[in-house]
Amino acid sequence: MSKKLSMQQRYAALTRDLDWTPDYVDPAKVFPLTSFEGIKVHDWSAWSDPFRLTVDTYHKYQAEKDKRLYAVIDGFAQGQGHLSLSDAQYLNAMKLFIQGVTPLEYAAHRHFAQLARHFDGPGPRFAALCQSIDELRHTQTEVHTLSQYNKYYGGMHSNWKMFDRVWYLSVPKSYFEDAMSAGPFESLIAISFSFEYLLTNLLFVPFMSGASFNGDLPSMTFGFSAQSDESRHMTLGLEAIKFLLEQDEANVPIIQAWIDKWFWRGYRLVALIAQMIDYMLPKKVMSWKESFELYFEEQMLNGLFKDLEFYGIRPPMHVQQAIEEKEILSHQVAWTLYQFSFAAGFNTTVPDEEHQAWLREQYPDTFDKLFAPQWAKAKKIQEEGGRFFFQGLPQLCQVCQVPMLFTEVGDPETICQRQVVYEDERYDFCSDGCQWVFEREPEKYVQAWLPVHQIYQGVCGGPSVPEVLAWYGLQEGDSGEYIGSLDHKDWLAWHATAPVGS
Ligand code: FE
Ligand code: ZN
Repeated sequence: MSKKLSMQQRYAALTRDLDWTPDYVDPAKVFPLTSFEGIKVHDWSAWSDPFRLTVDTYHKYQAEKDKRLYAVIDGFAQGQGHLSLSDAQYLNAMKLFIQGVTPLEYAAHRHFAQLARHFDGPGPRFAALCQSIDELRHTQTEVHTLSQYNKYYGGMHSNWKMFDRVWYLSVPKSYFEDAMSAGPFESLIAISFSFEYLLTNLLFVPFMSGASFNGDLPSMTFGFSAQSDESRHMTLGLEAIKFLLEQDEANVPIIQAWIDKWFWRGYRLVALIAQMIDYMLPKKVMSWKESFELYFEEQMLNGLFKDLEFYGIRPPMHVQQAIEEKEILSHQVAWTLYQFSFAAGFNTTVPDEEHQAWLREQYPDTFDKLFAPQWAKAKKIQEEGGRFFFQGLPQLCQVCQVPMLFTEVGDPETICQRQVVYEDERYDFCSDGCQWVFEREPEKYVQAWLPVHQIYQGVCGGPSVPEVLAWYGLQEGDSGEYIGSLDHKDWLAWHATAPVGS
């Protein structure tokens, strides 16, 4: 009686042993969603929980981290820390973050709450529950961290509305909604594996290292606070895929197709990050190319996928195209955003001499040949008192919803365009990858809410640009050219009167 339980027994008693098997309701009715995708699970108890968290330890640990973060936020705000950022332009990266990433945290919170309800096994249910709470915490800490900048800078005031409405934010929004509207196993592979495991370093490290390099102590602290959750999430992703692959051989081809789909969906999403890391950070961390080589090619392709070979899994189908694009991706996206920033929640400008010298160094084979001439042209227009903005609306890819700006593999001057006719309607795609995703599930993607189509249908505030921008929630100073913008003018005025770091 007095014998103490071992740690493992105690953990089991406090967590999965609380589970029970329904005896007067058919289990298939309690868990109705886990059979239609074709995934076979024979033994849920084979799911291992590497973190052994209980609800009690979970909350104590998270509360400690929150205390530290809020102390940093308070100190920074009281000391007018925003004035010691590298430059006001840095905040364009954080505008993109609060508009495009924070709402994904909230979507992930909902997503994992759904999984926590629907999985048959108590192990993954509890892991999903913890992650659901994590994601809500991330949403809150990000809003609190960035709210201090919102007092002084544009672009951060209406992030929830913008996420639902603005054209480039439909890229992350549609990505996550695609996952949330899939079955529970596909959405687990989509978010926990493809997003959290394959791509998280490409997504979060640039923002968090960017914060640290550019004097944004609160965002850096938020990043550290989220990172320990993140390692739990990555482990869930890896555990999920290995568990499902081990449960039944019939699961292998299903999961392979999900990896193929979600790699490509996720890779198109990080196109926004590629331009952020190369063009939005005044103090550079590393280039997109370096980041892709390190976090994806080295760690995932040559590391993880070598391990997964054992289960009969091969690298994602369109991975070669992603590798080919690493020399050009960030520049093509940055150039597009430069031309369309009159309708965005951040400012853009031509990279200055020093910035271009860095880009040249990072991309010796492509920058001077393909992109420096575009920036030179834009700069000349600006020097003559103009500003080059694209007139009109871009065509969007039906799947990834990015404007059709990507080029043919091996031919960086020819826009890649694919078309499919489905039930007498024509659909356009940016790549073979997006076309392939569409053709697997056309009935899903024909329903896509494409911002440009919606504008033409007249449901986005009205037919004119100012009406659409007002409907987006954009205010004066949020958009367009950086030089001469409200943020720029304020920044110069503050630094003319107040010594930095005082
Ligand atoms: Fe998160
Ligand atoms: Zn696409």
